[in-house]
Amino acid sequence: MSQINDRQLVRAALEGGKNAYIPYSNYRVGAALLSASGEVFSGCNVENAGYSPTICAERTAMVKAISEGHQQFSCIAVVSRGAGSPCGVCRQFMFEFAPDMRVILADLDGQVRMVTTAAELLPHGFGPANLDAG
Ligand SMILES: [Zn+2]
Repeated sequence: MSQINDRQLVRAALEGGKNAYIPYSNYRVGAALLSASGEVFSGCNVENAGYSPTICAERTAMVKAISEGHQQFSCIAVVSRGAGSPCGVCRQFMFEFAPDMRVILADLDGQVRMVTTAAELLPHGFGPANLDAG
């Protein structure tokens, strides 16, 4: 299993955020996702002049991992100014794959402000099990 600790994951998120494309909001976000197999996938937010095509750092990291065959995740670190919490779309996206995943929220100095889970961020979330319910 992975030997990476929270501090290292936060550092990877800070590194990932360096590539953020944020000409409109100037709100830099970095993410680092730890797969169950111990691999780290980083992400950043990528804005767009059309606004709605914008993608968040959390989903960038998750899509990178999923596209490379990973669907089980144990932790994600997200760093931003003031340690903002994930948007609703990202909460739903996390809940789909890893409701029990730990979510570490840190500021741009790497200070951890909150540790929670995807399920705690999306109480009573709608997920794959709902489609199986009779
Ligand atoms: Zn988001």
